[in-house]
Amino acid sequence: MPEGKPKADLIFSGGDIVTLDPANPYIRNAAIAVLGNEIIWIGKADDVDNHFAVARRKVDFSGQVMIPGLIDSHTHLFQSLGKTLGDGLSLLPWLAKFMMPLSANISPADAVATVRMAALNSLLSGTTTLVDNHYAPVDEATILGVADAMAEVGVRGVVARGIYGPMVEGGRRMQSDARLFQYSAAEELEITRACIKARPKGGLVEVWPMPLNVVYVDPDLMVACHELAAEFDLGWQAHCSESKFEVDIFQSVHGVRPARWLHDQGILDDRITLAHGIWFDAEEIEMLGAAKAHVIHNPVCNQYLASGILPLGPLMEAGVNVALGTDGTACVGLNMFESMKSAQVLQRLRELKPDATSSELVLTMATRNGGRMLRRNVGTLKQGALADMTVVDLGGIHHQPAHRPVCCLTLSTMGSDVRHVVVNGEVVVENGRSTRVDQDKVIADCLQASRQLIERAQIGDLVADWIEP
Ligand SMILES: [Zn+2]
Repeated sequence: MPEGKPKADLIFSGGDIVTLDPANPYIRNAAIAVLGNEIIWIGKADDVDNHFAVARRKVDFSGQVMIPGLIDSHTHLFQSLGKTLGDGLSLLPWLAKFMMPLSANISPADAVATVRMAALNSLLSGTTTLVDNHYAPVDEATILGVADAMAEVGVRGVVARGIYGPMVEGGRRMQSDARLFQYSAAEELEITRACIKARPKGGLVEVWPMPLNVVYVDPDLMVACHELAAEFDLGWQAHCSESKFEVDIFQSVHGVRPARWLHDQGILDDRITLAHGIWFDAEEIEMLGAAKAHVIHNPVCNQYLASGILPLGPLMEAGVNVALGTDGTACVGLNMFESMKSAQVLQRLRELKPDATSSELVLTMATRNGGRMLRRNVGTLKQGALADMTVVDLGGIHHQPAHRPVCCLTLSTMGSDVRHVVVNGEVVVENGRSTRVDQDKVIADCLQASRQLIERAQIGDLVADWIEP
């Protein structure tokens, strides 16, 4: 064995790597070396032995393609409890008749069991980082239990703690469930602060503030959330302008549009992420771009609830960082490959231009742009980045002939094509199975919680074999 060469903990070699690094975006017959939780080298497979004496583990991924681990920049894992219920309702009745009663009845144990299953579901389909906006229940123990569940299955992420505060006029007009508005603004901030301290910046799973919606969170509390995020040098998220009626309600209460209001309060900057961001006017888009704010496109959920189509082209032109998310797992699941395909074709329809998007663009949104929003060194496979990688098998008949693997990744890949997933330098999914938890038990625990919850929330009427169209 040659002497003097460094050791690596983990080397993948033989397949192609889509790096998302503009300097070297696609490497055929590639290899990548990891030490600890960091990528220390990336290059050609036939060169790797010249650089490393030995690796603790070497994986041959010939015939497969590696991408940066996908980043689901905005979702709600606990909503998996109500999966398949509420179909056909638009956002307001969907919230009032389904999601709010469900949310008001979830126990801490339900939430943790469901997040464990949903986070595992994400990992198995190639997602290595999740921003989970958890809004039921939101006590300190549950938020930290959710963070623990994510860490247990091995996913990187953020628990964006859902903040309601006192009921305000916007909440009443949204017909929000009063049971969820249980804490004062001071209590909300205190609980969030305690959670942030328990799961601080830089750990595998962080906690961020998430005042739930610009429409129904107290304005002073919105500003305080911005200050809290700045104090700990974190990002923060809020739902904003998802449906047209939300903008109408906000304007009727405050006299200005929501993003304009954020700008006027001085809290629109590169720390804020607005989930959905569909109904902005031209002035708001300019302000978002100038602030270098982040907006999350949730294309499948937006179609499901008929909310509208995010103006991707204008937002990107203005300089907004647009990342991708699955959002409501009750409606649309947690498959980021589906979100990429949907974003790719939906935006073409919006602009009636087939070149409005490309596979490369939506893959960038699902990786690099998410990393920028997260303020972490993830989303690009390059030396010095955190080792979060997903290996996809494009050998299936549904990909053949795979002339352009990048197009297969966004147009024909299914979550079940994912073979291996590495998070923070650890192989957490191997040959399509978790290396960390008993998958069957994780699923059974969630099923039991879900059945009991539907009974408790008295939404059994939504469980129907067939609803006549
Ligand atoms: Zn959401």
